[in-house]
Order: sequence, then structure tokens, then C-alpha cells
Amino acid sequence: IRFFSTPRVAVIGSGPAAFYTSLDILKYDIPVQIDMFEKRPCPFGLVRFGVAPDHPEVKSCQERFHDASKDPRFQFFGNVEIGRDIKLKELYDNYDSIVYAYGSSRENRLGIAGEDHPAVINSRDFVGWYNGDPRNQDLNPPLDKAGEVTIIGNGNVAMDIVRILLAPAKHWENTDITPYALDMLQKSIVRKVTVSARRGFLESKFSNKEFRECLELDKCGVAFTGWGAETFEPLLAGMKLGRVEKRRLQLVQKYCQPAAEGKSWRLDYLQTPLGIKVDPKQPSLLKETIFRKNRISPSGEIVPTEDLSSVSNQLLILCIGYKGEALAEFDELNIPFDTNRGAIPNREGRIEGMERSYCVGWIANASRGSINSTVADSSMVASHVVADLGKVQDSAKKGREAITKLLAQRNVKAINWDDWIKIEQYERSQGRKLTDFNSMLSVCND
Ligand code: FAD
Repeated sequence: IRFFSTPRVAVIGSGPAAFYTSLDILKYDIPVQIDMFEKRPCPFGLVRFGVAPDHPEVKSCQERFHDASKDPRFQFFGNVEIGRDIKLKELYDNYDSIVYAYGSSRENRLGIAGEDHPAVINSRDFVGWYNGDPRNQDLNPPLDKAGEVTIIGNGNVAMDIVRILLAPAKHWENTDITPYALDMLQKSIVRKVTVSARRGFLESKFSNKEFRECLELDKCGVAFTGWGAETFEPLLAGMKLGRVEKRRLQLVQKYCQPAAEGKSWRLDYLQTPLGIKVDPKQPSLLKETIFRKNRISPSGEIVPTEDLSSVSNQLLILCIGYKGEALAEFDELNIPFDTNRGAIPNREGRIEGMERSYCVGWIANASRGSINSTVADSSMVASHVVADLGKVQDSAKKGREAITKLLAQRNVKAINWDDWIKIEQYERSQGRKLTDFNSMLSVCND
């Protein structure tokens, strides 16, 4: 591809999807300017605010993301929210291509009465609290008052939360967990955790690797007490298990203990939450969660039954997934959005009906996929971006020069990569994450 001018690419977001796509575009030996816009002062999205503190190997992709900043074709604009500080229309006026990689901003809801009670916490807030998301630093979940916790949903986020709740506090001491979360874990009285799901064992959402990590808490005296054989055994009778399910079953058989005196956790299946009961003596806590039991029909469908059950718990944590939202100007600019899925409709990352507009990561895949799966998607999207840019013969777009002027006019302090390095070095020197944006901004200004 021969370029006659320097095309401009705007990337919205700075999580793994945004970085891998940028790095993949930079691999092509072409004159291009890539500007990355992140609404927070700090980059990396859920790698910083989602991935569990005891998974440093997963977070190590951040090192690779630093490589983008070493390329003069790339620039980072932190603390710049698209839709607020810079309008989407202004991006289209100033860039040849736009890559939407802004992830999922909301959590799913259960839609049951009592869901807004303070002792019903969604995983997004809970994870943000222990990972230092400034929005959640005051969450203060009452782990010092809740002996029993129910988690709804059984994906890998639920497994992270099982470890947070039950691993000994010293497990977290040398991680980047927030000091206030560590302090609360030291005071925690959580003894019993139930992980509840609507479907059956075979449809468990966790991966065996994350499941095993929770099972291995038995070394610290945390027992896995199974799932309730009454639902499990008939379920598996006559079923043909695949390799992953066989392994999952072996893990259960190896670790499952009948009952436990001390800390324990269990998986519960075929239960749909119907409502909560509040503790009349301590109204800030729950008493129990009420479930409707389900059964699996011969054709494999989940069918509600008339039977109800309840689980005693003082705190309920919802791990039922995240949801993407359209940006404010989508309607105005005729950018499609699938509200049901919470994703931008696309073909291999090309946004349907839009020229030189792409999406990647959770906003493209309806909040599904790991960092590894994002790597492959990003490489595909980058190849489309570059191929389509090749058709732009002479770019008249102003890119970062125009945007920098707009930000100055609007008094927006954009965080550039040097500023971010200062924040990162400060955090390393202090051995903790900064958890409010003003302190980050003041470190940059020092
Ligand atoms: P994100 O990482 O969410 O990044 C989106 C970015 O866009 C954010 O920084 C956001 O602030 C920014 N943004 C949003 N709106 C705007 C706007 N208007 N203007 C500018 N910027 C904006 N995967 C693994 O492989 N291993 C794990 O151990 C693992 N643990 C996880 C734990 C949790 C609790 C969660 C929720 C997910 C975990 N994942 C893990 C999945 C992984 O985090 C995702 O696959 C990945 O982060 C998705 O990347 P993304 O770039 O699409 O979105």
C-alpha cells in the first residue's frame, strides 16, 4: 500500500482491545498517526480495574502496551472522554478512521425486588473497590458483619470473588490490592460462600483453571463442599461429557468434602433468584435470598418448577455480566447499536453501514472474551483499518493538532504518556495504586 499523506486514526478506549489494535496497526510500516482517547487519567481499562490482584501474570500485558508509546506515530490522551470533552462528530471531522474500543460501562441487572438494597452489590463495584477504581473507593462492603455471602453467577469473575472472600488476608498482602480492601479483608468474618447459577453443572461458566484456583484454597483450610448431590447426580446420569467437563468433574470429585466447620464454599445449580429478605434486626444486611428451583427438560431447556428454596446470607454479590452502551451521539450520527446485546453490530470488526469505523473488544463482542481472545480480534481489525486507509489517497484531516487545540480551548487537562509514567513511578515507589483522580493529576503536575 502506498500512502501519499499521513492518515489519522482515533482509538476510543485504552484497554487491551485498544492497545493490541494500535500495536498491530503500528506493525505496518506506514505513515500513520494513532491517537488514543481514554476517559480516565490512567490507561489499561479492565487490566487495571478488573483482573484480580493475585493474577500479576495476566496484568503483565501492560508492559507490552508501553511499546506503543515508544512509537512517535502514537499519542495517548488520558482524562479525555469522547462524547463529553471531545464530541464524536469532532473525531469524524478530524480523523480518517475511528476504532471503538470503549468496553462495557454497565453491569447487568437481575430485575428482582430488593436489588437496590445496599447489601446487594454488583461485581463491577465490588471488583472496582478492591482494584482501586476511584468510583468505588467508598463502597466499604460489610465483610466484617457478613458471615455468609451468596454470589449469583458462576463465571470467572465469581471465582475471583470467591478467592477475595475466602483466601487468608495474607494471600493479598504482596499484591496491588487497595489498602482499604486489605484492611477490610483482615477484619472479614466471611465463613461461607454459595455460588449460585440458573443452569446446570455442565453449563458452568468458569474455566477449570480458575475453578481449580478456588479449590486449592483447601491448603489454607477453605473447604469445597460441593453443590448438593440431589441436583447434580440425576443431571449427569447418562450424559456424554466432553474433555473439559470430564476434567471439571474430576476436580469436584478430588476436592469435594461433605461438610465443613470452618471456611467453606459451594456451587449451587438450577436456582433462579426471586427476591431477598432483609434482616429485621440489622436492616443494612440481608437475611436470606429466595430462589425458584429449575429443572432441565429432556431437550436440555431450563424449566422453572414450583419449588422454592432459600439461602441464608447477609450479603449478595451479583456476577451476572457486564453490558455495553451506545455513546451519546450514536443516533445523531446514525451509528448502529444493538441495545439487547449491548454491542455495536459489526462484521469482523467493521461497523455495519459505516465507512472506516471499526469496533473491537467487549463493545464488539457483547462483553465476552478474555484478553487472549482480544489479541486475535485486534490483529484482524488492524488489518482492515490499514487496508481501508490504503484507499485514502490524500488525507486532509488534522488529527491531533486540531484535538489538542480543542482541549486547550475547553480547559481539559489531557494526561499524556509522560504524565502516566510519572503516576506509575509514583505508585511503584509507594507500593500502592492511586485511587483518586485528583491525586493522579497532582502527581502529574509536580
Ligand atoms: P476495557 O478493558 O473495559 O477497556 C475499555 C476502556 O475504554 C476503559 O479504560 C474505559 O475507561 C474506556 N472508555 C469507556 N468509555 C470511554 C469514552 N467515552 N471515552 C474514552 N474512553 C472510554 N481476562 C483475562 O484474560 N484474564 C483475567 O484474569 C481476567 N479477569 C477479569 C476480571 C474481571 C473482574 C473482569 C470484568 C474481566 C476480566 N477479564 C480477564 C476480561 C478482560 O478484562 C477483558 O477481556 C478486556 O478487558 C476487554 O478489553 P476492552 O479493551 O474491550 O475493554
